Amino acid sequence: MSTDPISEFPFDEVLLGDRLAQHLASEVARRVYRSGDQLPPETALAKHYHVSKPTMRQALQKLAGLGMVRIQHGRRTEVLDESNWDVLDPVIQRALTAAGRKEELCRHFWEVREMLEVAAAGHAARRASAEDLDQLDSAARELRTIANTSQDLRRFLEIDRLFHDVVTRASGNPALRSVLTPVHTFLNNILWEAESRVQAEQLVQLAEQHGRIASAIRGHDPAAARQAMAEHISFAEQEEFPARPNAV
Ligand SMILES: [Zn+2]
Repeated sequence: MSTDPISEFPFDEVLLGDRLAQHLASEVARRVYRSGDQLPPETALAKHYHVSKPTMRQALQKLAGLGMVRIQHGRRTEVLDESNWDVLDPVIQRALTAAGRKEELCRHFWEVREMLEVAAAGHAARRASAEDLDQLDSAARELRTIANTSQDLRRFLEIDRLFHDVVTRASGNPALRSVLTPVHTFLNNILWEAESRVQAEQLVQLAEQHGRIASAIRGHDPAAARQAMAEHISFAEQEEFPARPNAV
């Protein structure tokens, strides 16, 4: 628990519950409180953070909704194991990032992309509409143009994101898109923060990979689409986000 908590919350009272939830989530992600630990009583927490009991309750309810704690009537609030946390929610993502655990989250998200987007590409090859196919072709063309001319990484990443979103949508499974959208958002933000890592020649290779995925989907060839996507994700993970196990 921070020793100077109130200075971290010079915000409007309405936002206090959310800010407090974010702070507590970061403390849990830092393992100040561990799985199975009981938090201090609500009254003591409210006093410590100089907030009202309803505000503290609101913060704890938010964490309960994210699977971080369990509120039990008449008993103290218990910290839940990490396997219960909703890592697709930005509160948990910010908490893990603040705790120096961003790399770990990135690894898990790349693994999700590898599993789900390869499958999505296969489904898209069966189900993509004429409009999806046109959008994929046009995105792949624009990626090639950027790689060969301006090499504007920000624009490249925007179109890259759009391309993958179209593949996911073309898979015809809205649940897949619900899972992948926050994953893409998180990983894209990381790339934007560290844009110098991607080199110009890698952009050309990345653009070609998107072209191969688009033409396999247009050719209604699920096996080729899956393979092209698998190769792309594996390349992109290594090039865009090289494993840095010692980094924090
Ligand atoms: Zn891509």
